[in-house]
Amino acid sequence: MAKIFCVANQKGGVGKTTTTVNLAAGLAKVGQRVLMVDLDPQGNATMGSSVDKRQMALSVYDVLLESASVAEAAVFSEKCGYHVLGANRELAGAEVELVEVERREKRLKTALAEVADSYDFVLIDCPPSLSMLTLNGLCAAHGVIVPMQCEYFALEGLTDLVNTIKQVHANLNRDLAIIGLLRVMFDPRITLQQQVSDQLKAHFGDKVFNTVIPRNVRLAEAPSYGLPGVVFDPAARGSQAFIAFAKEMVERIEKL
Ligand code: ADP
Ligand code: MG
Repeated sequence: MAKIFCVANQKGGVGKTTTTVNLAAGLAKVGQRVLMVDLDPQGNATMGSSVDKRQMALSVYDVLLESASVAEAAVFSEKCGYHVLGANRELAGAEVELVEVERREKRLKTALAEVADSYDFVLIDCPPSLSMLTLNGLCAAHGVIVPMQCEYFALEGLTDLVNTIKQVHANLNRDLAIIGLLRVMFDPRITLQQQVSDQLKAHFGDKVFNTVIPRNVRLAEAPSYGLPGVVFDPAARGSQAFIAFAKEMVERIEKL
């Protein structure tokens, strides 16, 4: 049975997409069967997995509107080693179209249930908002991975996200939990980052992943080649960190 994780943080530019595609590639590298779901109309995770968002016959939009199944709409990325249920600008319309329909926040959950036996991990890249799309992700998931930069305001934003997750847990999805906070774009030379990192540890304990993702230019360059850093340059420090993170995830799942 697939374990389903949302990569969420309502702030933009905090490393959600980078985390999703690199964790997917890292998990694939260690032998896991992975489906990556792009829930952001920007389609960055799709493009960053070697799938052209403009050429897709079917996308997550069709799945949410129940005109295609996940098995029909997902494509295998040969280069990356995982399946991709892609997104493009069409998905922005789903937000409005779903307002009218029943079980609108459970559409993704229902669709993913059909492929639960085909994967070990499903990773969902969420848009930078707490919208109907993100809600679909949170309703479908067993857990949330929260990438965050160790900056002062990161902690403030976390409160909103934690409250949303609590509400979804109470009202819509009893399975949902924060699996962990992932420190990303980390630069140990910056004192404030060290301090925030220590505060996170003190406050959230083992909810903070042991793996730390460093700021690494190879991770930022990889998307322009349509690849996760882990595939583009496996030896880079950032890629090595994501492979370590994939192993940490596999271990955590075994303990759940
Ligand atoms: P989000 O999906 O939360 O908006 P992204 O994953 O797109 O965030 O990351 C925002 C920007 O930061 C991108 O340009 C990305 O390449 C860059 N980036 C993300 N993680 C790292 C990292 N560890 N080192 C360097 N650049 C990074
Ligand atoms: Mg993104």
